[in-house]
Amino acid sequence: MSTKLYRRMIYFLAAMVLPAIFLLHSCSEDDNVFVVPGDPIEEDYAIHFIDVGQGDAIFVETPEKVMLVDGGWSDGSVVSYLEGLDIEYIDIVIGTHPHADHIQGLIDVFYEFEVGEVIDPGVTHTSQTYYNYMSVIDTYDIPFTVGRKGMEWELSEHAHMKLVHPVNPTEHHLNNASIVAHVTLGEVTLLLTGDAEENAENQMLSEPELLASDILKVGHHGSNTSSQMAFLEAVNPAISVIQCGADNPYGHPHGPVLERLDAIDTDVYRTDLHGNIVVIIEDGVHYEVHTHQ
Ligand SMILES: [Zn+2]
Repeated sequence: MSTKLYRRMIYFLAAMVLPAIFLLHSCSEDDNVFVVPGDPIEEDYAIHFIDVGQGDAIFVETPEKVMLVDGGWSDGSVVSYLEGLDIEYIDIVIGTHPHADHIQGLIDVFYEFEVGEVIDPGVTHTSQTYYNYMSVIDTYDIPFTVGRKGMEWELSEHAHMKLVHPVNPTEHHLNNASIVAHVTLGEVTLLLTGDAEENAENQMLSEPELLASDILKVGHHGSNTSSQMAFLEAVNPAISVIQCGADNPYGHPHGPVLERLDAIDTDVYRTDLHGNIVVIIEDGVHYEVHTHQ
């Protein structure tokens, strides 16, 4: 082989083959795409972890019903996000517990959208925000359900929700009164934990088989009060989402929680770093994570 030809081959390799290998490699390493076992179905879903700063707001879309779990603060961010999705009617709204970073934004939601049903743990709080929240529900005469473990809702033909907490909540510890919802979307499962802390997690661990989920909304904004190892191992999520604000005064998410998430080998997404986090589920078995700053 002449030196010239040899050099051309090297150039060809460098120009064509190496980028192709790199492309294949990067595709196979695309860690935003997941597949769960099961037969594909004719339903698609979306889960929106809305960036509301230091608070929670999760919107779940199915072909039949849509559901909002918490509404963040009253800064309009949830209302404008839902308007951007052309939402007019929300079948189910869950206020996981009466703290303002979960229910204050729901007051605006009740003003702006027609709501089919509110689910709430039914524990009272002395704050003005909680009073306003209950007043608006009353004013619009929105059907109100006190949520308890074991209750179930159909969301579409292949989607449903089951509450795994609380059993006997008290107003003396509002975080541990949190409604925890296990949502099944085709074959993909999602656990929404509100601000449930260790005591609530221990109660749920009495039936760990109810907790296993592909996607976890990490409890209490990634606080070390929550996400103990036994609980994370029971859920065993492929992806974990932390909803917290940048530079929040609580230091959420706490380092030990990030270490425990690392130990269970789950992909972590954070609203303070990634903005809005949207999981698109296709055919009930494929899902893909998109982040939008
Ligand atoms: Zn909170």
